[in-house]
Formats: sequence, C-alpha cells, structure tokens
Amino acid sequence: MMIQSVLVTGGAGFLGSHLCDELVAQGNDVLCLDNYFTGSKRNIWHLMDCKNFELIRHDIVQPIFLEVDQIYNLACPASPVHYQYNPVKTVKTSVMGAINMLGLAKRVKARIMQASTSEVYGNPLEHPQKETYWGNVNPIGLRSCYDEGKRVAETLMMDYYRQNKVDVKVVRIFNTYGPRMAVSDGRVVSNFIVQALRNDPITVFGDGGQTRSFCYVSDMIDGWIRMMGRENFVGPVNLGNPKEFSIKMLAELIIEVTESKSEIVYKQLPEDDPVQRRPDISLAKEKLNWEPKVGLKQGLEKTIEYFRQVI
Ligand code: NAD
Ligand code: UDP
Repeated sequence: MMIQSVLVTGGAGFLGSHLCDELVAQGNDVLCLDNYFTGSKRNIWHLMDCKNFELIRHDIVQPIFLEVDQIYNLACPASPVHYQYNPVKTVKTSVMGAINMLGLAKRVKARIMQASTSEVYGNPLEHPQKETYWGNVNPIGLRSCYDEGKRVAETLMMDYYRQNKVDVKVVRIFNTYGPRMAVSDGRVVSNFIVQALRNDPITVFGDGGQTRSFCYVSDMIDGWIRMMGRENFVGPVNLGNPKEFSIKMLAELIIEVTESKSEIVYKQLPEDDPVQRRPDISLAKEKLNWEPKVGLKQGLEKTIEYFRQVI
C-alpha cells in the first residue's frame, strides 16, 4: 500500500480517533484536525508520540490550506444532544465545512470521503433502506440541522465531482458504537451502558419499539478504508450492520451483559425520532467486498469493558 498524507477532520472524535489509529498503523502521514467540540485530546493521546501523527486545532467552518493526498471529512457533532445544542453551527459545520474541504481537495487534487449518515433517509418509508431511496426528511424540525446539513454536504460532493472532477466518495453511516464514545455523548448505546454500570435507571424513549441497526467501530473503519482505496466508485454507499434491534431489546441485552440492577424507565420520545432503520448493504458487498463481522453482543462486551475503565 502506498504511503499517503491523510487529513482526518473530526479526528479527535469517537470514530475519527479509531480511523487515525488505523492510518498511523499503516504508516501514513496523518493530520488530525479538530476543534474539540465533542472530541477530546484523550482519544488520540496515545498517538502524540508517533512521528507520523500531527494534531491541528482548527474549526472547518474556516478555510485551511494544507498539502494532502486524502481527506476524510468527519467533523460534525453526531449525537442529537450535541448537534441540537447549536443547530446553526451544525449546519455551518456540515455545509461550509464541506465547501472548505472540497475546495482544498480541488486545489491539491486530493481524494475526499464525506461521512454522511442514514439520517439522510429521515423517518424512512422504505425498509430496509437502499441507496436509491430519497428519504423522508422533515426540513424544519429539530433534527433538520443535522439531516439537511448532511444532505447538502452530499449535494456538494456530487456537484464538485460533476463540475470540477474532484475525486469524491460518499459513505452513509448507520448507527455505530464502540470504545471512546464520550460518557456524556447522549447516544443510545453509551447512555444505556453508563446507566447500567452505575445501576441507574435505563432511559428508553417512547415504548422502545423503534428499531436501529448497530455496527461495531472496527467494521466501520474497515469499510471506510476499503472505500477510500476503491477506484471508479463514488457512492453513496450504505455502511452499517444489517441486524435490526428494537431499543427495548438493546436495553435488555445491556442489562444482561453488564449484570446490572438497573430498571428500565420510559421517557418521552423526541420529535421526529425515526421509527425504523436498517441498511441494505448489497452495494457495499458488491463494490467493497465488505460486510460487518462483529455481532452486537460481542461488540457490546468490548464497549462495556472500555466504559468500566473510564467511569
Ligand atoms: P463525534 O462527535 O465523536 O466526532 C465528531 C468530531 O468532530 C469531534 O471530535 C468534534 O470535536 C469534531 N468537530 C465538530 N465540529 C467541528 C468543527 N466545526 N470543526 C472541526 N471539528 C469539529 O462523533 P462520531 O460518532 O465520531 O462521528 C463522526 C462522523 O461520522 C460525523 O460526521 C458523524 O455525522 C458521522 N456519523 C456517525 C455515526 C455514528 O453512529 N457514530 C452515524 C452516522 C454518521
Ligand atoms: N434513545 C433512548 N434512550 C436514550 C438515548 C436514545 O431510548 O437514552 C433512543 C432514541 O430515541 C432513538 C434511538 O435510541 O430512538 C437511537 O438514538 P441515538 O440518539 O443513539 O441515535 P439516532 O436517533 O440518531 O439513530
């Protein structure tokens, strides 16, 4: 494999830090860029002494000039709690961030991969979701800053590709979990694990009948690296684990694996919370020869081990 100079925006976040680990291990020159909104230096502390790792404190809403071969554009808060904290900033991060990174990619002729999301499908009326589905997104709701921001980021990727021949890649990431999610992240897997380990009530929103499909972090990173290495394939491509679970099932499984005394309590369902979500991953199988290897129980065990150490 050829050694590359790689920029990872959002590299100090949960997924970004795992990607940096892999890219550094492969011997690439890695530039990790982050403004530490939801990420943390702790996630990449162990890489600081590596000669092929560099850290840049920067906000991608502002342009930046660097010489790189590849860009993974991950910068954006991913948890509803955090992306709704300052929704205008979330839109700016997705939209102006994508424009800035695409401008950079165009100038230095870098390949760029955009971290898009299953949220572009909104509350999907097609199940499971294929890449051809256009989605069912509320343009004016509380989740719109994230959903529509990511949709515009996809639009920009495709327009820079058609108009400027920028070498773009788009992956649509479905719910992914694992070690280094922040204790206060607010997404369901980390919330339930933290609550279970503290024997606090497990907060299921709604009746817990809504479904999600949970992908372990190592499988996701493997998919990204395959996508970045693939010629003549722009995407968008779904990456996620096609096994579907209700949120109530997830709560029960986490209670079982942690041997917790926690009880389940039911809270109000947030606005526009998607009812069901499961990726159709035929395209990823065909184009990337990719499918997830880590099952939910196994992935939860590793994640729980991590959270036991940090709380
Ligand atoms: P995360 O919140 O842990 O990581 C996001 C990182 O981006 C953080 O380090 C944060 O500080 C940084 N960031 C935010 N705004 C920034 C800005 N303006 N400038 C520079 N850095 C900024 O979340 P994650 O789960 O690691 O998500 C990474 C990417 O993957 C995001 O783009 C997210 O939308 C996407 N994604 C994740 C999931 C998932 O389930 N984990 C699902 C779909 C999409
Ligand atoms: N959820 C929950 N309790 C929590 C956090 C989330 O029941 O403490 C639910 C949430 O309402 C949603 C699902 O879990 O139905 C996944 O939520 P998350 O925020 O992890 O991701 P997203 O909704 O973006 O898929």
